[in-house]
Amino acid sequence: MSRFSIAIHGGAGTLVKGLMTSELEVNYKKALDVALEAGYEVLKQGGRSLDAVEVAVKHLEDTPLFNAGKGSVFTAEGTHEMDAAIMDGKELQAGAVSLITGIRNPVALARDVMEKSDHVFLAGEGAMRFAESNGYSFEKDEYFYDEVRYRQWQGIKDSDKFQLDHSVKKEGKFGTVGAVACDTHGNLAAATSTGGMTNKKWGRVGDSPMIGIGNYANNKTCAVSCTGSGEFFIRAVAAYDVSCLMEYKGLSLEEATSEVIHKRILEIGGDGGLIAVDAQGNISMPFNTEGMYRASKTSEGIKEIAIYKD
Ligand code: ASP
Repeated sequence: MSRFSIAIHGGAGTLVKGLMTSELEVNYKKALDVALEAGYEVLKQGGRSLDAVEVAVKHLEDTPLFNAGKGSVFTAEGTHEMDAAIMDGKELQAGAVSLITGIRNPVALARDVMEKSDHVFLAGEGAMRFAESNGYSFEKDEYFYDEVRYRQWQGIKDSDKFQLDHSVKKEGKFGTVGAVACDTHGNLAAATSTGGMTNKKWGRVGDSPMIGIGNYANNKTCAVSCTGSGEFFIRAVAAYDVSCLMEYKGLSLEEATSEVIHKRILEIGGDGGLIAVDAQGNISMPFNTEGMYRASKTSEGIKEIAIYKD
């Protein structure tokens, strides 16, 4: 059995240190731990990386602490529009959805797009019709409601501002979620899910559901899930850039992720982070923000759950 590993994130927009209470910190770490262990268990049983990342992301979507699924941020219309993507690095198969509402686990719908349709990316009403035809039930708005997110939205809803899930924001709970894994067969997978940005309008779509931008997996190189200022990650073609730096330039996972997060994204004015694994089970989790909710575990039992740099 070869080495396997998993890494997850709950967003690069952590609470600034001064606002993080020890009780909240425990809650965040507990939530990360549960999601990490659920994904790890799949890998330990010899399961597929694709199943591991889906299970982990579903757990993160189900907790209101993170901006995905339950607890997604409010749009300018007071609704929740969610985006998600999943990719299988073995076959280069991918599925993504954006601007969907009422779906408990957007990542599951993204996987169904991959496995049950001839398409890669479905958006809005069409994605909802696809969900309906695949037997999904739809949650009422109350299911997604979160008091803190509501207050965030109230603070800016009459302005043209939209709020990134970011550490420059001094109040609130943030966090697009994602998972990457390498299974015992050296197959890689990545999944990412988000509620996007508070007060977003006009059908704004971020990097998270875009294949090669916020989410990418390729057995030849790596699996990547990003979090941060989506508009910048889109222009940097971030996740695919990590893969390209490895494939064409021969950089290691660590070097390639560092180049993208600490150089290329910063150079164009963006901020955020990513998690990545390669086919040898190496893990990298760089970020250029104050913190990034993150956790990882390898088959040697090396486990990390962290929020800030130290
Ligand atoms: N990247 C996400 C977006 O722009 C936000 C985040 O990661 O916090 O929609």
